[in-house]
Amino acid sequence: MNYDVIIVGAGPGGIFSAYELVKLNPSLKIAVFEAGNALEKRKCPIDGVKIKSCIGCESCAIMNGFGGAGAFSDGKYNITNQFGGTLFEYIGKKEAIDLMKYVDEINLSHGGEGTKLYSTANTGIKRMCLQNGLHLLDAQVRHLGTDINYVVLENLYNELKDKVEFFFRTPVERVEKITGAENTSRSYAEGFSGEEPEKTEGYRILTKDAEYTCKKCIISVGRSGSKWMESVCKDLEIPTKSNRVDIGVRVELPAEIFSSLTDELYESKIVYRTAKFEDLVRTFCMNPHGAVVNENTNGIVTVNGHSYEDPEKHTENTNFALLVSKHFSKPFKDSNGYGESIARLSNMLGGGVIVQRFGDLVRGRRSNEERIREGFVTPTLAATPGDLSLVIPKRILDGIIEMIYALDKICPGTANDDTLLYGVEVKFYNMEVELSENLETCNKGLFVIGDGSGVTHSLSHASASGVYVARYIHENP
Ligand SMILES: Cc1cc2nc3c(=O)[nH]c(=O)nc-3n(C[C@H](O)[C@H](O)[C@H](O)COP(=O)(O)OP(=O)(O)OC[C@H]3O[C@@H](n4cnc5c(N)ncnc54)[C@H](O)[C@@H]3O)c2cc1C
Repeated sequence: MNYDVIIVGAGPGGIFSAYELVKLNPSLKIAVFEAGNALEKRKCPIDGVKIKSCIGCESCAIMNGFGGAGAFSDGKYNITNQFGGTLFEYIGKKEAIDLMKYVDEINLSHGGEGTKLYSTANTGIKRMCLQNGLHLLDAQVRHLGTDINYVVLENLYNELKDKVEFFFRTPVERVEKITGAENTSRSYAEGFSGEEPEKTEGYRILTKDAEYTCKKCIISVGRSGSKWMESVCKDLEIPTKSNRVDIGVRVELPAEIFSSLTDELYESKIVYRTAKFEDLVRTFCMNPHGAVVNENTNGIVTVNGHSYEDPEKHTENTNFALLVSKHFSKPFKDSNGYGESIARLSNMLGGGVIVQRFGDLVRGRRSNEERIREGFVTPTLAATPGDLSLVIPKRILDGIIEMIYALDKICPGTANDDTLLYGVEVKFYNMEVELSENLETCNKGLFVIGDGSGVTHSLSHASASGVYVARYIHENP
């Protein structure tokens, strides 16, 4: 075998697997294959002046490369089992929290020291939410910020680069099982004449120009690798299921309106049950003084947001997503395809992301350049003014509007006419890969972790899953 362990994908899941494996056994031969660039070469060409919208780079600097989708993220590490994934269902609640705390310690010792840990415990905000039909989920949040998150990644890379072989711009095309006859001597001794049962001895990793072998393989390809992950599961007959997608908008408003929440909690995950359809709408990825950004998933442009720890890079606005989860039942299976079609509609009408004033939306009219310019909220993303009601299904949009009015009760001003809504924000959930409680597939020695497994949807859970599998491999060589 060329390697003891090959890791596919250098996002948080892959990085933390490599980190823990090296720490536990420095003599292991480990390779990491990453479709995108090394950290210092990751640069999105959108500058808002010459290049205003996504030009579909071969490797998206936002989603791919060392650091994964999280590299330019806000670096909010949520320490909780209440959201961010269902890792606890596999490894237990205590272990999941312990691993997230361990990841936090590593981040702190690699450049994150001095960053703030926020907590929902003992705040009056929870009561205020409940009094207004809103539910605040419990969590601790380490906010590294986009700038410190980058420093932490840089330090982790510098520590790993001489101990692990990194292959950047090297997407893995296929994963094959290497099999051998099982227990041949016994079979012959017992006069066994049938076909020899096969034993998995390792994995062959095929890239465009070469192939490599390993004893154990950890796949951590995140959301951007979801389509590829599907093909691997098909080839290796790994059962999967897929039935969820989250659809919504990104809200942007003056930071003062949300400061009562963000000053104390930084990020608050608030859930609201709509009166009309009893759907759950929730806040997601809150960025005080942040910026709204484009996100490109498999060529489809959606919206996201981030913010910097450095006050010099703060904007005057806060942004967050409002999302509604859609679960499908039989016979429909392609929940991501459904989300993609809605995002495509916004790309078709707006050439990318659409922005609309809340006042225009509730009056049933599109926003145009002039109305956006005259508004009191200056957009931080150059998006196309338009009409989100032509894109987002009515039931989802009604839920979002209802929640904006509910949030207005705890943060007056949320439902102002000038509040900006960007669409669409889609959270694609990878299909769930069937895994054992050790995150191992039905093929022994093949592990799937992070967002690509469908088990996690966040930096902390993805990183924790990486540490977990590294420890498991160390204990079960
Ligand atoms: C703009 C933005 C902001 C975010 N903010 C936050 C936040 O503040 N807090 C939070 O918890 N989460 C946030 N997230 C989500 C978070 O980034 C992900 O949950 C996390 O990165 C998942 O880690 P991962 O290792 O599973 O996958 P990823 O980070 O997606 O990494 C997967 C890597 O695999 C590579 N890859 C894919 N296919 C292949 C292949 N075939 N061969 C080789 N390599 C491949 C990709 O290039 C990528 O680098 C944000 C996401 C975005 C896009």
